[in-house]
Amino acid sequence: MSSTCQVLVLNCGSSSLKFAVLDPHDGTVALSGLGEALGEDEPRVSWKQNGERHTKPLPKAARHTEAIRVLVEEILSGQSVLRDQLIAIGHRVVHGGEKFSHSVLVDDAVIQSIHDCIALAPLHNPAHLAGIEAARAAFPTLPQVAVFDTAFHQSMPRHAYIYALPYALYQDHGIRRYGMHGTSHRFVTERAASLLNLAVNEVNIISAHLGNGASITAVHNGRSVDTSMGLTPLEGLVMGTRSGDVDPGLLMHLGSRMDYGLKQINDLLNKKSGLLGISGLSNDCRALEQAAADGHEGARLALHIFCYRLAKYIGSYHAVLPQVDALVFTGGIGENSALVRESVLRQLQGLGYGVDPAKNTATRFGTEGPISSAQSAVTLVIPTNEEWVIARDAAALVPPTTPNHDPSTRE
Ligand code: AMP
Repeated sequence: MSSTCQVLVLNCGSSSLKFAVLDPHDGTVALSGLGEALGEDEPRVSWKQNGERHTKPLPKAARHTEAIRVLVEEILSGQSVLRDQLIAIGHRVVHGGEKFSHSVLVDDAVIQSIHDCIALAPLHNPAHLAGIEAARAAFPTLPQVAVFDTAFHQSMPRHAYIYALPYALYQDHGIRRYGMHGTSHRFVTERAASLLNLAVNEVNIISAHLGNGASITAVHNGRSVDTSMGLTPLEGLVMGTRSGDVDPGLLMHLGSRMDYGLKQINDLLNKKSGLLGISGLSNDCRALEQAAADGHEGARLALHIFCYRLAKYIGSYHAVLPQVDALVFTGGIGENSALVRESVLRQLQGLGYGVDPAKNTATRFGTEGPISSAQSAVTLVIPTNEEWVIARDAAALVPPTTPNHDPSTRE
């Protein structure tokens, strides 16, 4: 299909702004870039277009508004065709609490709801709001759409999302499991259904998103029924720098016996643990694989624990699902690490998993397909594409009265 419309996708972090302009029909990226070190001493915007890289320094302490100004006035202004094809702006929003099970057009009530969820995502939601405000000011005639990382998991049943804590903490303070990476798990679910020749609402998968952050989701009939992240993105799997599950008694032990304050505990569990903490070397899977091959004991142990914990979660999700059509690996590690995938599948032999070594080694760097051996449980590698989901959702929600509206993008 020829490209008649484009969507600008914005992903605002606390000190960063990722942006991309892409075709919602096929995901082709026309322009992509990154504002980084925002609010710091040397903020800058870099972008890639037609294979060429560019960087522009921003004034000291410049924030999202300034990065968006550069995007509009200096990057897009030289691209009038691209700019004129924009039909919507899609914003990644980390936390939508219980209010949003789907993407929505942004209006004042939606902005208020994102604001209401700040307590649940104190670093992310304020940055998203700054991005939405700046984008609304820069593109006053374009519809803005919010796509929530938590939305896909709103289908979880209550017994999967309630912690075994006094129920009033949920009722009065919203303390429950929400889950994250929903946009990625949703993309992978839809793609797996297509590869398996099943309708989305009849596919059952276990989706393992393994990147610097990592989470795993049990999908029944196309809907998330359990996931490993909880109230915050700290729960669940071992991650690059996050511990994942620990005994909650550890917190009291650190506080009462070792004089840790809340900030130190937060830093310990979120920034100094996981692959980095165990190995004492790096949070980066690629670096650890190299070090392990060179005989580094900490790197070996970190990778072993990462794979062991992941395999345990996969086993537990077989207890959650009545049937599993496929196990899916995605995210930087899931898409590229043949070593991690092989180790996990070997651990799961008792559940019928097995790896085809040639397919496993060949399926990397953006390729897609099965890596399981003949007769073993189906295992797929599917490169995720959250930007494309955001662009598709944004295009589908564009009101028919908007200039450039393309009815073929509606679901
Ligand atoms: P993400 O957060 O999805 O970008 O994933 C980042 C993680 O993917 C890091 O731990 C990387 O080391 C890992 N990764 C990327 N490429 C490879 C590769 N070729 N082999 C092993 N790990 C990789």
